Amino acid sequence: MFQNWQHIYDYLFVCVFFPSIRFDCKKVDFCLAKPTTKVRIAYFYFFYFPINQSVKKKKNVFTSFLFSRTFFTTNKMELKGSCHCGKATFSVKSHTPAPFMRCYCSICRKTNGGGGYCINIMGMYKTLKVNGEEHLRTYQAVRDKATGELCGNIRYFCGECGSHLYAYDRKYAEYVYPVASCIDTPLPELDSSSDVYHILTKDKANWVMIPKGAQHTFDEYPDLSLEDWHIKTKRLVD
Ligand SMILES: [Zn+2]
Ligand SMILES: [Zn+2]
Repeated sequence: MFQNWQHIYDYLFVCVFFPSIRFDCKKVDFCLAKPTTKVRIAYFYFFYFPINQSVKKKKNVFTSFLFSRTFFTTNKMELKGSCHCGKATFSVKSHTPAPFMRCYCSICRKTNGGGGYCINIMGMYKTLKVNGEEHLRTYQAVRDKATGELCGNIRYFCGECGSHLYAYDRKYAEYVYPVASCIDTPLPELDSSSDVYHILTKDKANWVMIPKGAQHTFDEYPDLSLEDWHIKTKRLVD
C-alpha cells in the first residue's frame, strides 16, 4: 500500500490532521459531518501542501508555502514527444522543462548514442499520456555487474525504431523523466557555460568533450536536483 515514508506521512496527515483542522472550524458540527468544498480546498491550500512540501524537501515552511501555491496553478508546460518512426508518441506536463543536465554515465551514453550523454528532463507522471504503448519496450540496466543490483530507472524505448523516450523510477513515482532529444516541443534555451550541468563525468568516454568554460562539472551526482535547479535559476514553470 505504501511505497515510501512519504506515502505513510500523507496517509497519517489526512487521517489525523484533517479531522482536527475541521474541528477547529466554527461550524463544528457541520464540518465534522460534511466539510464543504471550500473548507476542503482551503485546508489543502493553506495547510496540507505547505507542510507536506516542507517535510518532503526538508526546507523551511515559509519557502514551501510559497512553492505550494504554484502547485495549484495549471500553467505547467505541456511537452510532446515522439520516437523517430512515429509509432509511439506521448505528452506530459512539466514544471521543470529546461534541458540542463547532461549525464555521461555508460548507461546513458550507450542507450542514447549521440554526443556521449543523455539529457533527462522531468514531468508529472500522472499527466503522462502515451499513444502506441504496444510498441514500447523497457530496459532496466544492471547498475553493478558484481552484485547484479538493478538501476532504479526503467527506460522506455520504441521497439520499432529504438528511440529512447523516457525513464521512470518507482522510487520517485510522481515524476517521469522524458529524454530531451525526443521532445518535439521547443525547450528553453540555455547558456552552455553557466546553466548546463555535466554529471557522472568519471564515466564519460575519453573522446567526449566537455565545453571549455563549463562551470558545473561533477565526477558523480550534482549538488542539486532538477527541481532545485529550476527554482534557483527562476525557470520553474508555474
Ligand atoms: Zn519508433
Ligand atoms: Zn546516466
